[in-house]
Amino acid sequence: MVNLILFGAPGSGKGTQAQLLSAHFEIPQLSTGDMFRDEVASGSERGREVERIMRSGELVTDQTTIAILEHRLRQDDCRHGSLLDGFPRTVAQAQALDRLMAALGRRVDRVIHLQVPDSVLVERLSGRLTCPTCRRVYNLDTAPPRQDRICDVDGSPLQQREDDLPETARRRIEVYQAQTVPVLAHYRSANLVVDVDGTVGVGEVEDAILSSIGAPV
Ligand code: AMP
Repeated sequence: MVNLILFGAPGSGKGTQAQLLSAHFEIPQLSTGDMFRDEVASGSERGREVERIMRSGELVTDQTTIAILEHRLRQDDCRHGSLLDGFPRTVAQAQALDRLMAALGRRVDRVIHLQVPDSVLVERLSGRLTCPTCRRVYNLDTAPPRQDRICDVDGSPLQQREDDLPETARRRIEVYQAQTVPVLAHYRSANLVVDVDGTVGVGEVEDAILSSIGAPV
């Protein structure tokens, strides 16, 4: 049983590493961003409200976010561990997670903080493409697909996220600095944070994460 949080700015590589670690530890990846994109795709009323917020680069309300995460964390496949990707993003969310984990008889084992300078983030977000089917993430400059804009795994045409367009991407980084960075102090005081250099290659970052949390590489 291991419960991990992947922490970092938009473009720091959370999604990519979450997929690798989820496979390594055989625990589900819980991405609130993916949950919200599913909600938007469903066309529900809540989805329309969430879409408006995501397009602006701001955060969805704590109430909605905590509710969707709690619902997911209570599902059966999370009983043996989970990997949170993009949650918590505010101190209020971190406090709600503490209460929820305690109620479930679980605890956060480690918070993996991927460190990447802002200048690299903007560059990475502008080149990012995602597969709408399997959600694998590519980068036009650093990790291109074998065939132009086609997913290596399932052949779907790759898409650019609307919130990766430069203006919104910059806003998301500002929101991260203002609202999400304070969450680190919450976990540092509990001695749970491991800082990992997120600027090196995907495999090197994965190895650094595994060794920093004491797992065999
Ligand atoms: P992500 O895919 O993690 O970059 O998330 C995309 C967008 O979804 C964010 O810019 C927010 O608008 C929203 N979102 C995802 N996770 C959260 C969260 N924990 N709290 C609030 N909003 C979130």
